Amino acid sequence: EEILLMDNITKVYANGFVANKDVTLSVNKGEIHALCGENGAGKSTLMKVLFGSETPEEGRIVIKGEEVKINNPLEAIALGVGMVWQHFMLCPSLTIAENLILGMEPKKFGKFGPLNMAQANKVAQEACEKYGFKLDVTRKVEELAVGNKQKVEILKALIRGAEILILDEPTAVLTPQETAELFVQLRHLKELGHTIIFISHHLDEVKELCDRLTVLRLGKSVGTAIVADVTQQD
Ligand code: ADP
Ligand code: ADP
Repeated sequence: EEILLMDNITKVYANGFVANKDVTLSVNKGEIHALCGENGAGKSTLMKVLFGSETPEEGRIVIKGEEVKINNPLEAIALGVGMVWQHFMLCPSLTIAENLILGMEPKKFGKFGPLNMAQANKVAQEACEKYGFKLDVTRKVEELAVGNKQKVEILKALIRGAEILILDEPTAVLTPQETAELFVQLRHLKELGHTIIFISHHLDEVKELCDRLTVLRLGKSVGTAIVADVTQQD
């Protein structure tokens, strides 16, 4: 079942550079879908369009069968799209719990409001348990290893209701051990019914983790395939 369709997206930057030309991306609910291609192929641009941080010149976006207009990241989040960039956007001097609830509406936390630490810790701890993350939510982000900072970013997106989670080259900053842990985590999210778009240019990672892949080249879509079909040994 298709959860996301980006249909014939064209994105031209202000300097006239065509970063996406008639790109189509179809993603099924509950799959881990790789978005592959060399540096400069247009992967980040396509995801910026999906997240509402770039506006396309042409094309349609359909989420759960309904055509949507995504004008900014808040609208993307409201539609269940979550983004984990390569560069983390966390406040180092705040705790994990504070980072997780930062900027969220007080009404989501009952009568206490988001500044009540005990309440914040409870919400954060419950989210960790729900999604299977092992984190001490009372620790400051600046004390964390990169892999744990990334977990906080993923949790932030999930707490905000991300059904479609986009990860922009998430393994680039991780150790092999952290990468292995991330893959376990992503498979668990898949089991919970989440859909994952995994941006990568490592075929070995795609082979290990993903169900299907779409390849971009020079701003155009080369096509979509089932990973097992294109990596089969004979
Ligand atoms: P990828 O994520 O596949 O590496 P990007 O979408 O980041 O590719 O970039 C695609 C191309 O668009 C690159 O050549 C890049 O330099 C160019 N590009 C990205 N952002 C801009 C911008 N704001 N203005 C002009 N060109 C851009
Ligand atoms: P990413 O690694 O996410 O693809 P980059 O490091 O390529 O991002 O680019 C960082 C920022 O600079 C982005 O916001 C991108 O849109 C912008 N950018 C990239 N290439 C160009 C370019 N040729 N002209 C103007 N802006 C660009």
